[in-house]
Amino acid sequence: MNDDQLLRYSRHILLPEIGIEGQQRLLDAHALLIGAGGLGSPAALYLASAGVGTLTICDGDAVDLTNLQRQIVHREAAIGTNKADSARATLHALNPGITIHALAERVAGQKLQALVATADVVLDGSDNFATRHAVNRACVRLAKPLISGAAVRFDGQVAVFDLRLPDSACYACLFPESGESEDVRCAVMGVFAPLTGIVGSIQAAEALKLIAGAGETLSGRLLLLDALAMQVRTIKLRKDPACPVCRAVTRSAEC
Ligand SMILES: [Zn+2]
Repeated sequence: MNDDQLLRYSRHILLPEIGIEGQQRLLDAHALLIGAGGLGSPAALYLASAGVGTLTICDGDAVDLTNLQRQIVHREAAIGTNKADSARATLHALNPGITIHALAERVAGQKLQALVATADVVLDGSDNFATRHAVNRACVRLAKPLISGAAVRFDGQVAVFDLRLPDSACYACLFPESGESEDVRCAVMGVFAPLTGIVGSIQAAEALKLIAGAGETLSGRLLLLDALAMQVRTIKLRKDPACPVCRAVTRSAEC
């Protein structure tokens, strides 16, 4: 770290749980963000400000006026431009010392696999189950930690699936791909602006702790937030031995 970095990140370095070593781990890390919307906005802002050295942000959508109520990485002048590009511009202005890759597409298939393979941690802030399950499958296959967030109306959820651990549950253990779950879109249901900020910020906190090796993450727990009553609770998550996504991987590893 040079003098500028020592000063910029001094309030992290002062924390014994992070220190110079933890901050260096952040600078050396690569975080993959799926979605630059309500959750990806605060998550990306904190990962960039905190000095995660490489960020890759994927989003195929364009910034719309209705996004600005909560998607705080975007500015009014960015309306009509791609969200990943818009996020990169804001994040670069905040911290020009980090590398930011913007992918103006909804990544899937081999490209998603290749991106997950290069990441130290994956943050899912996408708005649909097809993407969530595709990201989960890639993280299971490549044994990467997945930090999943969701927010609609006044209800938020965060879970950490530390898929480096053999007994970790995966997203599909919790929400089976064959389940009846339907996409609940903010465009139809509405969403409380700061709820997305709270959930995305918790995702960033978990990512930073996980990279720096500080404290205990939400791994193995699901955090549920009711922002209307401002009640938070966590429930234990267990690996589903019948889960078709992570069971297959465990079996192939045993063979
Ligand atoms: Zn599973």
